[in-house]
Amino acid sequence: MTSPRNAALEYAKENQEKFLNSLKDLVRIPSVSTAPEHKADMLIASHWLMERLESLGFDTRLIETEGHPLVFAERTIDPAFQTVLIYGHYDVQPAEPLDLWLSPPFDPEVRDDSLFGRGASDMKGQVIACMSAVESILKTTGLNVNLKWLIEGEEEIGSPSLTPVLEEYKELLESDIVLNTDSGMIARNTPTITYGLRGLAYFELRVFGPQSDLHSGIFGGVVHNPAQALCELIAGMHDEKGRVTLPGYYDPVIPVSEKEHKQLAESPLDEDFYLKQMGVNELWGEEGYIPAERIGARPTLEINGLYSGFTGQGSKTVIPSWAMAKISMRLVPNQDPAEVQQQLVKYLQTHAPNTIRWELTPMAGAPASLLNTSLPASEALADALEKAWGKKTVYKREGGSIPIVYHMQTILGSDSILSGFGLPDDSVHAPNEKLDLPTWYTGIEALIHFLFNMQDLEK
Ligand SMILES: [Zn+2]
Repeated sequence: MTSPRNAALEYAKENQEKFLNSLKDLVRIPSVSTAPEHKADMLIASHWLMERLESLGFDTRLIETEGHPLVFAERTIDPAFQTVLIYGHYDVQPAEPLDLWLSPPFDPEVRDDSLFGRGASDMKGQVIACMSAVESILKTTGLNVNLKWLIEGEEEIGSPSLTPVLEEYKELLESDIVLNTDSGMIARNTPTITYGLRGLAYFELRVFGPQSDLHSGIFGGVVHNPAQALCELIAGMHDEKGRVTLPGYYDPVIPVSEKEHKQLAESPLDEDFYLKQMGVNELWGEEGYIPAERIGARPTLEINGLYSGFTGQGSKTVIPSWAMAKISMRLVPNQDPAEVQQQLVKYLQTHAPNTIRWELTPMAGAPASLLNTSLPASEALADALEKAWGKKTVYKREGGSIPIVYHMQTILGSDSILSGFGLPDDSVHAPNEKLDLPTWYTGIEALIHFLFNMQDLEK
């Protein structure tokens, strides 16, 4: 007789095409959270998810917010069983620039074993992988694990509605562990658990000069061009060693231990890896640290966008009246986004010249997190990944930010375990985002193993 585990794995194999079609349907909905013109699509996507979960036997509800709604679903069989809360997000980044896509971003297409489309990897593919694993189990044998889902629609814009929802629905969202698959693998066939996440502080800086745009012949030479002043301010935010110059920026940063340095030095994420990934001549970054440290364990400051003056075709001799930069920092444990804001303000107070006026608007902020890899659920996940891939699970500190992990910890008191089946070359947030399908199918198997492993865990 086949074991329940094998029956579910068998079901998953037989239904790969069905799962893929389901993912394609979801990718077709342009749920771009930042774009007001897609507000209706956000609703369509959330209802699509509710219907899917209802068809699997979950009780669902739409949690309305001032922004985009969250989808909640629950299947509680017995409080004596383990409860897993599966977190996901159904929103995606804008697809622009559209002309760089080889196939339309919201018309998913399979090419060379990959599914191309916005959100295929981040993270509609991961959400559907979780649903496919759950379906494979529930349609074959059933599971003695209580399952909850929380799928938000604002992850790509910094999850503004999430904290109030966690506060308000604390009891409803109670769980033993949160499974978060919004984190990828470090390489193909390398099952990965992420245990460290950087935080984020995001700002818009506007520099104002003359009250209106000026003729550069009539006024050039007597006025400080705000575009230039902004560039001067930005240029001063790093020193010649690639260090961020905001006052006190590194004070709370925990040094990388000898042991962790050794671990990270063995990571396949070395100089060569990044050179190949990005197609640049040389890497850049903070002196004295290897790439895996600079990405996982050291904070950064980036200019995400610059705007000023005339950017159209042709030429126009103008001195712009204002200039704007989007600036964000990836933070490491112990750094506080509010403190970082004060450091940036202090920097600007010290360095901004009297010739201009500036305004700083905070856009998003979240502290970093470090997760305990010896939790039973974390070990259950590591074992599941190893069963599916037949390879040891690699642990990594991630350069990105998933603020929800921190909020789940502080508001709900729930730890998260982080994995996922995206690959580094998936072009997430970029044109031609894709999902590697063989990896995805193996990922669904891993999730089936994980849920059965959770069933075997004593509470
Ligand atoms: Zn994501």
